[in-house]
Amino acid sequence: MTWDEPEEKEPEMGEEDEWQLFASAGYASAEAVVDSGSEPSESEEEEVWFDGDDIEANGVSLDWDAPPCPTPLGIAHIIKLGVCDHCLHRIGGRRTKNSGSEGGKEIREDAHARDPDIAKFGAPELCPLCEDLFDDVGNIVSRVAESVSGVQHSTMQFGIHLPKDLIQEEDRIRSRHGAPGSRPLKAAFVDAIQADLSNLLSNVSFVKENPDLMIRVDGLTLRVDIDIRPVFLYGRYRKLSREIPQTRWPCRACRGRDEGCESCQGTGLQYPDSVQDLIGEPIREALNAENTSFHGMGREDIDVRCLGAGRPFVLEIKNPLVREYNLEELVSMVNSNASEKVEIDSLEWTHKKRVAMVKQHRSEKTYTIRFKTSVTQDEDEAIAAIESLSGTTLEQETPKRVSHRRAAKTRKRKVVSVDKAIVDGDEIEITLRCEAGTYIKELVHSDEGRTVPSVSGVLDCECEVLWLDVEEIHY
Ligand SMILES: [Zn+2]
Ligand SMILES: [Zn+2]
Repeated sequence: MTWDEPEEKEPEMGEEDEWQLFASAGYASAEAVVDSGSEPSESEEEEVWFDGDDIEANGVSLDWDAPPCPTPLGIAHIIKLGVCDHCLHRIGGRRTKNSGSEGGKEIREDAHARDPDIAKFGAPELCPLCEDLFDDVGNIVSRVAESVSGVQHSTMQFGIHLPKDLIQEEDRIRSRHGAPGSRPLKAAFVDAIQADLSNLLSNVSFVKENPDLMIRVDGLTLRVDIDIRPVFLYGRYRKLSREIPQTRWPCRACRGRDEGCESCQGTGLQYPDSVQDLIGEPIREALNAENTSFHGMGREDIDVRCLGAGRPFVLEIKNPLVREYNLEELVSMVNSNASEKVEIDSLEWTHKKRVAMVKQHRSEKTYTIRFKTSVTQDEDEAIAAIESLSGTTLEQETPKRVSHRRAAKTRKRKVVSVDKAIVDGDEIEITLRCEAGTYIKELVHSDEGRTVPSVSGVLDCECEVLWLDVEEIHY
């Protein structure tokens, strides 16, 4: 063993000065090489630190004023406090051949050799720094390895729960007596678990954020919980049916309870299909997952189709045992499962942040809407009246049909352009582009005057909406 310090030292320095130099320059740079395993050469030994005079002068009694590790007095002091080999290595600040408790053993033997009186303290009973937590590393590691077998993963993050009073007491002793820069208990405990675990599991890397698996260890009960983090897929869907809600819709009669009821034929669903499940179920099965969440960039009504490039969405797949899959295969599985109802062109892996991006984004949209007029219109006059709405700003009170779930307020929304109007007897079809959040059906029928101006208003007759398509979401 050698001291953890700069190789070149000024011989005329006093001990106090040497210690300062050691503390400020030596340890921090040495920490990185502490586990290098390289055997120090004889010439690197620094005898001036080994004289043991101070220890003899202080006898075997606890010297509470002992300078912190890695001074010989500091090492002697924490040995007398009863630290375990693991903690001795952790806060001793010495360079050793081995790491962990083997390294601590070296430090202890070396201290005993310097001062046989220290050996009188015998083997430690319960380490005051860790309460022998490091004895449990092997147990925890085998439990983690067992729990993650069969779960595809490449990254892990550890969360450790330790009793607060243990943390505080450890911090107090370490900051008073430990070598400057010593690894705190929690971080060192995680290091020890990860080092052992990487011997058992190949190809796993330990990360500080966005892990595949979050491993929670309770240091008190030794309980190990594995949280399989969800995976996210981004895509755009076209909805070709007027009978499908975007997300799963629980049965109104039984509220979607497990066994369902008669009216939902045991499905628990009001509508057997949803965009969420038509896309999500084949993917959930392929990834051997538990459930999905569907995050769309807005939504259309059940009876509204969504065409063009489709509506952006993020599918969240929860508790997947499989995290890697050929995306083209997933796309074709979805399209054959959702044939004639929903289509997707592509999928890409994405991350949780994309959910908020998709949900918050507001895009202009182009719609085609067909409606019936109560009075048959003159073609040219009707087209001119409807085109006069191009560029106007609507004031829309919260529509009656959604007033039970939306706050009553008046929204201002712009009709960006009226692109096409076709009069066909008492039916009219228009294509128009509007600001995000415009209520299009209300723009046509006026919702009993709650939307001003409106198509119904400029034509001066009632307008009954026949159908509506989202033609394009301009994202
Ligand atoms: Zn300990
Ligand atoms: Zn039901």
